Amino acid sequence: MRFGAHISISGSIAKSIPRAIDLRCDTFQIFTRNPRSWVSKELTNERILEFKTNISSSDLKPVFAHMPYLPNLASPDPEMWEKSIFSLKEELNRCDLLEIPYIVTHLGSPKTTGKDKGIEKVIRSLNNAIANYEGKAIILLENTAGKNESLGSNIDDICNIITKTDVQNKLGLCLDTCHAFASGYDLRDQTVITKLIEQIDNCIGLNKLVLIHANDAKFDLGEGRDRHEHIGLGKIGEIGFKLLLKEKKLRKIPFICETPVDERRDGKGNLEYLRKLLEKAK
Ligand SMILES: [Zn+2]
Ligand SMILES: [Zn+2]
Repeated sequence: MRFGAHISISGSIAKSIPRAIDLRCDTFQIFTRNPRSWVSKELTNERILEFKTNISSSDLKPVFAHMPYLPNLASPDPEMWEKSIFSLKEELNRCDLLEIPYIVTHLGSPKTTGKDKGIEKVIRSLNNAIANYEGKAIILLENTAGKNESLGSNIDDICNIITKTDVQNKLGLCLDTCHAFASGYDLRDQTVITKLIEQIDNCIGLNKLVLIHANDAKFDLGEGRDRHEHIGLGKIGEIGFKLLLKEKKLRKIPFICETPVDERRDGKGNLEYLRKLLEKAK
């Protein structure tokens, strides 16, 4: 199985690679830019070459990028919506320059306009962003914790969105375990996990589940609160992660931690924990 973590690009994007290797990652995720800004610094040829050279001399694969925080693909505000689509297109291009095969995005929030309008907006955003796109990157839609009217807390909704676009071959799913638990999927229960895998498989095919964000949850089941915790120290706990790692169907899918770094543990510690748990689950 391949395990990894979200890695900082502080200093230069190429610095993420030695950092990922230090943590003993097999795979990793980055922001290609400052995630809290609309403006992105252009990637110079030098930076691109440095990144690609570091990647090719490592065993790290695949690399995942995550969209910045500000874009909202479900926004009811036309200006914000246009800007968000532009931003997604921009990230697709950056992924191609860096030869990153996947970009993870949240669906956004329709604010007060309701879920149906939001879903329609997201479908149009995806169609629009990918319509004239000739690159190779695949967009992975991530499930959310379900607060602030954010879309995608129901994984069925995400699968349905994928089937309703004109660009299904350019889309996939990223399942965040903390978000799933926060939105009511009790991952400590085998029947819930089995049903979830079946639902995904029936709607879009399990091969479309490309990434698992392995995060434990600080808050309780269904509370809708998105606070990540170290693996095994949160409410999903060892029980839930052991069940997930027991699933042979999930073992082909990379698990990437977006867990905190504090005095209790760092990224490396969480990967070690997952690897030990996998041995126990086998
Ligand atoms: Zn995310
Ligand atoms: Zn996530």
